[in-house]
Amino acid sequence: MCGIVGYIGDGSAAPAILDGLRALEYRGYDSAGLAVLTPQGLRVRRRAGRIRDLARLIDDDLMSGDIGIGHTRWATHGAVTDANAHPHTDASGRLVLVHNGMTDNVADIRDELLADGHVFTSETDTEVIAHLIGAHRDAGSSLTDAVGRTLRRLAGAHSVVALAADEPGLLVGGRIGSAGGLVVGHGASEALLASDLPAVVRHTRHVQVVEAGEIVALRSDGAEFQDLHNRSRQRRLFSVPWGPLAAAKAGHRHFMHKEIHEQPKTLADTIRPRVTLEPAELRLHDFQLPVAARDIERVVIVASGSSHFAGMVGSRYLRELAQLPTTTEVASEFAYAPGPLSRETLVIAISQSGATADVLLAVERARAGGAPVVALVNTVGSELTRTADTAFYLHAGPEISVCATKTFVSQLGALYLLACHLGVRSGTLPPDQLARRLADIGHAPIAIARVLQLEKQVEDLARRYHHARNFLYMGRGLAHPIALEGALKLKEISYIHAEGFAAGELKHGPIALVDPDIPVVVLALDDELRAKTLNAVEQIRSRNGRVILVATEGDDLDEGIAEETISIPRTPPLISPIVGVVPLQLFAYHIAVWLGLDVDQPRNLAKSVTVE
Ligand code: GLU
Repeated sequence: MCGIVGYIGDGSAAPAILDGLRALEYRGYDSAGLAVLTPQGLRVRRRAGRIRDLARLIDDDLMSGDIGIGHTRWATHGAVTDANAHPHTDASGRLVLVHNGMTDNVADIRDELLADGHVFTSETDTEVIAHLIGAHRDAGSSLTDAVGRTLRRLAGAHSVVALAADEPGLLVGGRIGSAGGLVVGHGASEALLASDLPAVVRHTRHVQVVEAGEIVALRSDGAEFQDLHNRSRQRRLFSVPWGPLAAAKAGHRHFMHKEIHEQPKTLADTIRPRVTLEPAELRLHDFQLPVAARDIERVVIVASGSSHFAGMVGSRYLRELAQLPTTTEVASEFAYAPGPLSRETLVIAISQSGATADVLLAVERARAGGAPVVALVNTVGSELTRTADTAFYLHAGPEISVCATKTFVSQLGALYLLACHLGVRSGTLPPDQLARRLADIGHAPIAIARVLQLEKQVEDLARRYHHARNFLYMGRGLAHPIALEGALKLKEISYIHAEGFAAGELKHGPIALVDPDIPVVVLALDDELRAKTLNAVEQIRSRNGRVILVATEGDDLDEGIAEETISIPRTPPLISPIVGVVPLQLFAYHIAVWLGLDVDQPRNLAKSVTVE
């Protein structure tokens, strides 16, 4: 995944593109480049490194022009070098291209072009695509037509934006498959084409989405959409419900810190428009079940990464609140072995971005098996919302940090509401119980706000433990997925090895690892398994293990049971994972800060994984 920005209008293109790239740097960040059409012709600057390194190469006088394209790369074909950074030019040097995705059939196309005398200066598939577009233009095609012809030839998933010196005033974007996204923004006297909304909302909130299999010809005064065979298409204009401030750090040192602290509000944004407490009502006005609740026999949740752990909590919600047999599957596994499916199997697909390739594939398989699919997503208008039958939105606002926090918590809130909804519809959750359940979730944002007040304590813990090279995380029941999520957060941003497991499994293997150098983070939340988890803690302590215990305020804990204890507010058991994850997010964050690492853009990771 990478970030693409194209600008055309009455402003200066280079600074607008650099700004847009900074807003997209979370998507890919090993190289960056931009091209501007100046009165002297196309000028290209690109290099391996960050956007700030690219910015140093931009001389405002030399790079002045009102149309251009830029790219922040996440390499798939070819090493991270200046020569492989985008934009790439065609054989004539009069066309530049930026590209998101990877080409499965690049070798064949490259061979054909080599045979025709083309010379390549990079190892990327992108340069091959640029040359192919150029070859179509040499044969008489317009830029728009040449991009369409080229995309028809490519296998794989791609978004591209091209600019040609001899067709000034025009940017051509195109998309096939589900690589990233491509949106058009329409300002008063400027227009943008970008991979994602944060690059656009600085200029305008009026956007259109470029769908897979579409080309857009963008001029400063409007956009024309067509399919790959020149048939015109209409695209709805919609208004982004958040502005540039939502995509800014707002005084926080890192986006992750900001997003952790936003959680009381973002969880409330997921819940409150859908819940009233007096009378207790759940109104999902923006959601429709794709199948009658009484016809659902079982539920399968498919997701990847943190969303998968949210799904594990969600299965428990569905079993308990809606009495539905539910399992949670890793999307990339389910996609290749979905097992028997039917109209009576409801599939819930979870993806923050709605662009996760593994989840999209899993949904394709689920639908092929006849299962109705609900998408649980944050990004409005994303691919998953179109491939699923219906979407349940998180409304958590943009999440910029690669490491998910607020969207995880909102996913838990959304799954809880969805489970209540299914319970009400199928008659398994009577009204008095619904009232209690809604009140429980309604209080969760306040409980999170109270956990955030523990930040100083957690930061101090992080200071003392950041030299450890391995961590274990464990919990039982609803705390098990939270232990997995806590370990994943630590791995992602601190590069410390961390393993999460179900506390009941301790004696079946992990106990062999226990020694004073491997701190064990234990979640003993307020549920029926707490006493058993504390027994496991005893076993660790008696083997000289060091325990960091996340327990509940007012717990009657034995003296010295743990090296460290973090006490979170008492909540009903089903709410405890929503609150219990927060200290683990803070812990991972502060460890990464102590280690001096790049919290928002951890190495090797991309925000949404749009390749299989
Ligand atoms: N395949 C292209 C490359 O390796 C684009 C990768 C990206 O999406 O950034 O340069």
